[in-house]
Amino acid sequence: MTQQLRDGFDGLVLEPGEDGYDAARMVWNAMVDRKPAVIARCVSVSDVQAAVQFGRAAGLEIGVRGGGHSVIGLPLADGALLVDLSLMDSVRVDPQIRRARVQGGALLGTMDRAAQIHGLGTPAGNVSHTGVGGLTLGGGTGWLSRLLGLSCDNVVSFEMVTADGSVLRASAQEHPELFWALRGGGGNFGVVTEFEFQLHPVGTRALVVDLHVEPDHAMDALRRWRDLLADAPRPATYLARSAVDGGPRAAVGYVWVGDPDEGRRLLPELRALCSPVVERVVEMSYVELQVSDDDVEGHLLRRYWKGHYLRELPDDAIRAFLAREAGGGFQTGGRLTAWGGAILDTPEDNTAFSHRDAQVEFTTAVGWTDPVEDGSRMAGARYYAQTLEPYASGVYVNALADEGQVGVRRAYNPEKLARLTAVKDRYDPDNVFHLNSNIPPSVAGIGAGPRADAGAGAGDRL
Ligand SMILES: Cc1cc2nc3c(=O)[nH]c(=O)nc-3n(C[C@H](O)[C@H](O)[C@H](O)COP(=O)(O)OP(=O)(O)OC[C@H]3O[C@@H](n4cnc5c(N)ncnc54)[C@H](O)[C@@H]3O)c2cc1C
Repeated sequence: MTQQLRDGFDGLVLEPGEDGYDAARMVWNAMVDRKPAVIARCVSVSDVQAAVQFGRAAGLEIGVRGGGHSVIGLPLADGALLVDLSLMDSVRVDPQIRRARVQGGALLGTMDRAAQIHGLGTPAGNVSHTGVGGLTLGGGTGWLSRLLGLSCDNVVSFEMVTADGSVLRASAQEHPELFWALRGGGGNFGVVTEFEFQLHPVGTRALVVDLHVEPDHAMDALRRWRDLLADAPRPATYLARSAVDGGPRAAVGYVWVGDPDEGRRLLPELRALCSPVVERVVEMSYVELQVSDDDVEGHLLRRYWKGHYLRELPDDAIRAFLAREAGGGFQTGGRLTAWGGAILDTPEDNTAFSHRDAQVEFTTAVGWTDPVEDGSRMAGARYYAQTLEPYASGVYVNALADEGQVGVRRAYNPEKLARLTAVKDRYDPDNVFHLNSNIPPSVAGIGAGPRADAGAGAGDRL
């Protein structure tokens, strides 16, 4: 059945049993063990066009893999076509005009390294083996976001293969409504083969401060930490953790991008307010910062996570954060990451991305190896997140796991969802691209296998 696709295909077409098939279906979360009917490992835009056209003609569901870091492996489905972009991973930097052209399957680390050769950078996530594709299409936050906004705020244009296999460019001038939707609306509208990013002179240095506090002092330390957030300088991203190495201690600190000596100026105040028992203050290069969580967030573990945005952080929310209640499941730790700064420079309506007004983002992430623990690990994380939910103002679309359409409605307000639906109607009316946090078209599609539950109950596939 795949001969037609193989003819003239520059990359690799893999079916079950062929060499490389099993490696190509592996993703970050080891719980994801799905078997696509065909994996099209694209190396060119024409490969992507051919794959999309083939998938539609064959009546296959179509998933698009960038870096493979969707928490629950959204683009993979049994019996589907996987359009695998991971071989389209080049990054070209033009230091004169401070722009980077990044292929749709590139990883963050490739982009960071290419830009840092010139002392340049653009906001990206905190783990270098994450894909630029999924991260940027959902928004994209990292240590540069308070200084320079979200990843999607720094995209100048997108090159995209549409559901009918044609190629277009979306920018402020070309397909402006699609350009709006691609900045936060996820992979719903087509396959992005190239991102053009604005780069900035960010230097090459960073400072990480992590102060551990005893459980008895944690509430007080976090309340004072919270009171620092409003006036925090933009190069600083304040962080708090509810557990240190799984233990009862909490931690507060910050990541500073830029001159470490300037970053150290925040240290005395933070130290004085939280009386730390252990201090970790480390200078590093920006590239080292960007890979510093790579191992702990590595592949091969079974994974689950939950998140919320919180517009405010009242004392009761801090109490719930520190209590880490697991409701009988495995207890896990959580993190609060400060927002604000340049994230608020882009008006809320300028992009599909929502919830710019968050004061902090809460995340709880868990990794384990024994499948027997799947239920209790996920239950613990869910329960913990539930205890924070009364204080939440929404959720990051890229932090969604198995929440389905309920989660999508938390990720976007009703007006944005209506506008996204209108863009979907125009660019993908048959919901060809539905193996994602799906924004279904307003009328059920007739194309390749859009499920009635598109995006809903995705967790059942874990
Ligand atoms: C370890 C880890 C660390 C993370 N850290 C951060 C962080 O610091 N900041 C942050 O904002 N997020 C972070 N995330 C969340 C991350 O943004 C999402 O998981 C994102 O979806 C990953 O993108 P991907 O391309 O790697 O994933 P994939 O699983 O390949 O894709 C995810 C979704 O995006 C779509 N997609 C991917 N590429 C394209 C493309 N080129 N064209 C069209 N659709 C595409 C897919 O179809 C799928 O629906 C992290 C995730 C992990 C697992």
